[in-house]
Amino acid sequence: MLSKLQQQKVMDSIAAAELATSGELRVHLEPTCHNDPMARAIDVFYELGMQATKQRNGVLIYVAYEAKKLAIIGDQGINACVGPNFWDSTRDLMLKHFKEEQLTEGLCAAISEAGKQLAHYFPPVANDQDELPNQISFG
Ligand code: CA
Ligand code: CA
Repeated sequence: MLSKLQQQKVMDSIAAAELATSGELRVHLEPTCHNDPMARAIDVFYELGMQATKQRNGVLIYVAYEAKKLAIIGDQGINACVGPNFWDSTRDLMLKHFKEEQLTEGLCAAISEAGKQLAHYFPPVANDQDELPNQISFG
């Protein structure tokens, strides 16, 4: 799906975004999604143990690339302080790139945008730890 170089670009984008926020971002890719991508993203979020952050501020970018479905979800710490349209700008950016078959670019742009959005509510903390690995997971 993504070459090693493309995967590295995505991981680098996560690392860069996490410099500006205490939020933790992850990406999950799989070909198909048989139900609602939001429901599937929530399942994946827990399968990946993404609730294991101190501020409950993990964010999952979920993409079913053949089904062309996607969802962005944040943990309860984020939902407690943002509105329901919080991820719209991130989703729109990603969709724009995906329409041109630019999966890597779409992911990197979305990660960067999500990081910026998160930084308003979750600025970096002293002695920041990488609470969730900056890796892509594949379904
Ligand atoms: Ca961190
Ligand atoms: Ca991380």
